[in-house]
Amino acid sequence: MNTTKQQNKFVKFLRNHAALLLLIFCIVAITTVVLVVTLTRNNPVIPDEPVGTNPDDTDKNKPDDSTDVNKDPRPTEKEKIKVYFVSPVNYTSVSMEYTDGEESKFVFSSTLNVWQAHRGVDLAAADGTQVASMYDGTVIDVTETYGMGHIVKIDHGDNVIATYASLTDVQVQKGQQVAKGEIIGSVSTSASYEFLDGAHLHLEITKDGEITDPMPYVKGEIFREVEQD
Ligand SMILES: [Zn+2]
Repeated sequence: MNTTKQQNKFVKFLRNHAALLLLIFCIVAITTVVLVVTLTRNNPVIPDEPVGTNPDDTDKNKPDDSTDVNKDPRPTEKEKIKVYFVSPVNYTSVSMEYTDGEESKFVFSSTLNVWQAHRGVDLAAADGTQVASMYDGTVIDVTETYGMGHIVKIDHGDNVIATYASLTDVQVQKGQQVAKGEIIGSVSTSASYEFLDGAHLHLEITKDGEITDPMPYVKGEIFREVEQD
């Protein structure tokens, strides 16, 4: 009996508040629709992230730019290489040193029996040992004197002139171009002023018109920076 009474009350409640219940249902329905729409709108925005095509494009451009920058200076900058002077002879010893005209350094000439300045170096080697040009150059003089024997003078450029003396079997002529290492003659005792010192090359070098110590050139310490084609 109680249950039927309660059912009747519930039916009465529905009838009296039908309009209110309909309104609540409509609000819930509209809220649900709005929520669904906004959620589905936000989701499609996320796939916009694959904008990865743009970074690929910039990466492709960058290597092209860098290679252009590297290519441009290459034709304008020629590579420079060091070209060294070389010893003109395979010598066994320096039989007489360079004195530069200083009296304190005078060397004794056993041939002339005097102490004297020695404006070059004597590079001792077996009689007939070949003598080569120390650097590229032009033969500017080929002479023979009683005191210094057969003499070859070579202009090696940059105001460097080398005098190769006490030679025999001279292989070059005045005006001839010679390359570094090219044979110009052989050592001998042809220099009468130094013949008692044995077979040797008497070598003098002038730089900018001033006599200078040939040993840095002989030892291969002097070089020039030359552009390579
Ligand atoms: Zn000498």
